[in-house]
Amino acid sequence: MKISLVKTTSPKEKPDQNKLGFGRFFTDHMFIMDYSEDKGWHDARIVPYGPLEMDPATAVLHYGQAVFEGMKAYRSPEGKVLLFRPEQNMARLNRSNARMSIPQFDEEFALSAIKKLVTVDQDWIPSAPGTALYLRPFVIGCDNVLGVRASSTYKFMVILSPVGSYYKEGLNPVNIWVEPHYVRAVRGGTGYAKAAGNYAGSLLAQKQAQAKGYSQVLWLDGLERKYVEEVGAMNVFFNIDGELITPDLGDSVLPGITRDSVLKLLDSWSIPTTERKLSVEEIFAAQEEGRLIEAFGCGTAAVISPIGKLGWGDKAIQIGGGKIGEISQRLYDTITGIQNGRLEDPFGWIVEVES
Ligand SMILES: *Cc1c(COP(=O)(O)O)cnc(C)c1O
Repeated sequence: MKISLVKTTSPKEKPDQNKLGFGRFFTDHMFIMDYSEDKGWHDARIVPYGPLEMDPATAVLHYGQAVFEGMKAYRSPEGKVLLFRPEQNMARLNRSNARMSIPQFDEEFALSAIKKLVTVDQDWIPSAPGTALYLRPFVIGCDNVLGVRASSTYKFMVILSPVGSYYKEGLNPVNIWVEPHYVRAVRGGTGYAKAAGNYAGSLLAQKQAQAKGYSQVLWLDGLERKYVEEVGAMNVFFNIDGELITPDLGDSVLPGITRDSVLKLLDSWSIPTTERKLSVEEIFAAQEEGRLIEAFGCGTAAVISPIGKLGWGDKAIQIGGGKIGEISQRLYDTITGIQNGRLEDPFGWIVEVES
């Protein structure tokens, strides 16, 4: 499939690289392709960034048939444009599609479209430390019919946003609240998909945790509310006695690409890792016995986000003296170093965008 290109005639002014925040600015162009049952995916195009016109009956607005991805493009010191394991994002987007009854797309083609879009807007890739161009591919159901069923038409789109660090505090330990009541996902549900509704359903708990002075929630399993699953929209690791433990992937945990990269890096450093069920009780007991060394969330947006304080009911613990753990720091430095081309890439994770 060919990708047509219509360039903007009114390029926007670029934001100050030191005041980017996260997801607040968007580049000059976006990618769109459409799906219909008779034509399949078609009409791939890069066009000026701008609003979509939608019928108020559009399926996604009512029944939430929407999935997305989050990935980043980096500018290397030599000026190359680099992506980090992008084929993994394409594969996951198709798995999310499958769960939400959205048709599959050609992953290689979509990646080539993303590369082309990034090339068109490459002047938007920031280069200040900690910054990147965040890529947001997403798919939405577009039928204009009220009725609970899978849409027969869709749009696949990609928008780009120059970003600074995810948390205002940067790589600083954050306070996390163990959520006792609300759950993010259950067995048989949609937790393993990056489906829009999962995030809408998580907002109330996050808001209530924030009112208590916490920045994110630690989600527990939906059946027993006993075992940890994720922290906010990140996977989570606990260092107990030098062993890095992360919840195993069931269908209620999002299989993070950062999580997988962390596991592979730790392995290569001969640091023991385990994927298993881990209860909050075990974490608090480990802290009491002085065996809980550090804890962190991980995901594309923040990369590594150390957990400083963990609140659970009327108890609260300070992990690692509230400081950034040694392994957290080493992982952050190594992953971001590989991503921005400052460190060697022994795993073959980096994909260069020809420009
Ligand atoms: C996106 C996401 C992650 C992290 O995935 P990455 O591929 O590492 O960015 C973890 N948990 C949830 C719920 C997510 O949405």
